[in-house]
Amino acid sequence: MAQRVQGTEDLFGSYMQRWLEVQDLARELFGRYGYEAIETPAIEQVDTFVHGIGESSDVVRKEMFRVMSGALLERSFEEGGEQNLKARQRLALRPEGTAGIVRAVVEHDLVPQGAAPVKVYYAAPMFRGERPQKGRLRQFHQLGVEAMGAPDASLDAELIVMLMEFFEALGFPHESLKLRINSMGDDTCRPAYRDLLSEFLHTLEAELCDDCRERANINPLRCFDCKNEGCQTIMSEAPLLRESLCDECSAHYEELKGYLDSAGVAYEEDPRLVRGLDYYMRTVFEIDALGAESVGAIGGGGRYDGLAELEGGRHTPGVGFALGFERIELALAELGLVREQNKPAPIFIALAASDLKSEAFRLAQELRAEKHYVEMDYQGRSLKSQFKLADKLGARYVIVLGPDELAAGQVMLRDMKSHEQRSVMRSELIHELS
Ligand code: AMP
Repeated sequence: MAQRVQGTEDLFGSYMQRWLEVQDLARELFGRYGYEAIETPAIEQVDTFVHGIGESSDVVRKEMFRVMSGALLERSFEEGGEQNLKARQRLALRPEGTAGIVRAVVEHDLVPQGAAPVKVYYAAPMFRGERPQKGRLRQFHQLGVEAMGAPDASLDAELIVMLMEFFEALGFPHESLKLRINSMGDDTCRPAYRDLLSEFLHTLEAELCDDCRERANINPLRCFDCKNEGCQTIMSEAPLLRESLCDECSAHYEELKGYLDSAGVAYEEDPRLVRGLDYYMRTVFEIDALGAESVGAIGGGGRYDGLAELEGGRHTPGVGFALGFERIELALAELGLVREQNKPAPIFIALAASDLKSEAFRLAQELRAEKHYVEMDYQGRSLKSQFKLADKLGARYVIVLGPDELAAGQVMLRDMKSHEQRSVMRSELIHELS
């Protein structure tokens, strides 16, 4: 039997319904904050991700799925491998949404000089070649927003407030949400701090895990993310960026906190919070669901003022967040908060004789034209089985077509809640049901 790729999921039934519901909630809530939907391609040039996420990140180095046509694959074998391909031939499935959107903003000049910020949201599958495990998939779904065109902390705060509101709309109780914030500095203050941290790590090199020994050179801030206990102990003693923030970054961070306070959004300052992608600066944040910490952060984001330039555009500051649909559902399940989906209740058309099928077909179309949800039997079941089926489908009404009733211009209408049954004129049926 053919099987799906490990680490991927088929979405159907109530899970699919829920994904659609989550997208509906996003459209409604984000729309109130001025965010419009955007969809960028699932494949981009590798460089789009390398420029933004960073050559040294795990995502780019190990986890990106590369894409090649069969013809190009054959040619690249003959011509000595990937390094001989042109940039436009080196493609990857997107591991995250921001880089592609910033590429699109630059390409279409969506924030012309002096224009108000552009606010967009997306709901789309992302792809990472990770080892599949619970809450870690190779194809998963993210919902995210990007606001580009202003460096102001009010934009960061607005977006965080909106995210917290969204989590509550998804079913997380207010008190279960823990927001952590930090500032990652900018090009003025981070380089010096980076050197300081790197120096600190080199003095303890022998005690670091292999990955961190490498990170200490390439990107020492990543060591804060290491899960190794020894490294965590070392990092608890490490100098903090907060103490080296420049005046502008400090002011931006204070402003952010001020806006969050005035919106009544509780947060915890986490000076060791760094996010795994290179493009972040100043504001970074993550949200955990208390009681479901084992699934990992349910969402996070931050500011990326330099990213548009890395994608070849002019300076366009931006801020955004992304959350993983599958993680959210896992967290809600862990908290015992998964709600049954409300299925719509159909009107079921039952036949007392099989030669009335075309009559039933016609009636079904008539009712659907009136926006009713209509089901009928397609398998020649007995009248008794048709009622069973109507029950299983949760039908609100059953219309029974019988030869004698139809000859008299009537049908039988059964209310499945009250179990009342009465004759209704066929010509009055639509009116009755409305
Ligand atoms: P990141 O871009 O890594 O911060 O991811 C943002 C969100 O996407 C996370 O908070 C998770 O909810 C989700 N996520 C990231 N990687 C995966 C994965 N491999 N499988 C499922 N969800 C993921």
